[in-house]
Amino acid sequence: MVKKLHLGEIYSKIRACERIDKQEALHLFKNAPWLEVAQLAWECRQRKTDPKTASYTVFRIINYTNICSIACSFCSFKCEQENRNAYVLTKEQIFELINQAIPKGSSQVFFQGGVNPDLPLDYYLDILSGIKTTYGFHIRGFSPVEIKHMAETYQLEIPRLINLLKAAGLDSVPGAGAEILSERVRKVLSPRKCTTSEWIDIMKECHKQGLYGSANIVIGSVETNEEIIDHLDHVRSIQDETGGFNSFIPWTFQAQTKDFPRKNIMHHDYLKLLGISRIYLDNINNIEVSVMVLGTEIGKLALRMGANDISSPVLEEKVLRSFGVSSEEDARKLITAAGFVPVKRDFDYTLQTKKNPNSV
Ligand code: SF4
Repeated sequence: MVKKLHLGEIYSKIRACERIDKQEALHLFKNAPWLEVAQLAWECRQRKTDPKTASYTVFRIINYTNICSIACSFCSFKCEQENRNAYVLTKEQIFELINQAIPKGSSQVFFQGGVNPDLPLDYYLDILSGIKTTYGFHIRGFSPVEIKHMAETYQLEIPRLINLLKAAGLDSVPGAGAEILSERVRKVLSPRKCTTSEWIDIMKECHKQGLYGSANIVIGSVETNEEIIDHLDHVRSIQDETGGFNSFIPWTFQAQTKDFPRKNIMHHDYLKLLGISRIYLDNINNIEVSVMVLGTEIGKLALRMGANDISSPVLEEKVLRSFGVSSEEDARKLITAAGFVPVKRDFDYTLQTKKNPNSV
């Protein structure tokens, strides 16, 4: 039954810390002025996280291969095996990248690559265990898309594969590959990626085995408002069941290829989505603003509109073009300029103040 909705009543529910449902979230998204959503999101953010601080982390992205068999319509990073620009990083090259990142304040790595069916399982296991033994770093990596295709290639059950990756050193998983959890949209953008239900099942299995991480949403293609709210609802339901998401990150698509049906998302629409994410995802503590894609000015504004974290300065990223900060010093300056005390945290949101009181 369709109920009659009033913005004032929804606002009161949010202020009373009551959970809003999908219909109410959609009504808010379609009808509420974005600044009112921003104010409500700021109130929620103050209840959930320290209103005086904003956090950041530092990690090295390792784009270990650009060979990919998936062919998402929006991606300009992928390469065919035969392409002269195709590459696979060796363990030595990866170690060299890590060595370069240490003086920049990083003790974490984030593996992100194409789905390369020619890599043997030992490639991953050897690198994971090598990094863990040599550096002791937190290793985040392998989206549900990569995990699904690895399992198929090596003919392993998903739980067994996740178990092997974890035993070799994997600590957490990214929310990548979700974009919009809607079959209609996925058929347009990336029909060869995993389906919505596969993405959800793999993520739940990762959480079950203790591999926590992040979730995200990427808007700016053919998605409808209803599909955006459905996506948030999928994330909230997973979190109710597993509690495995440390953070949620709204992104917008970048223009990477000419044939991709990309919509221009206005900044206030992005901020409205970020605010609705903060409000709707009442079971996720941390909302990150995608400074890398949206830029520093939106980053500062977002910290007053629901976000409490700016993620990481970009030490290396090839999949996306970066408009963000490129050093730890820049990250701290941005947060200070926005009126907050910068706090460094790990992937799992352990604040580094607890380990080193001099780091803030
Ligand atoms: S987005 Fe990822 S999975 Fe899709 S084509 Fe690019 S590298 Fe492959």
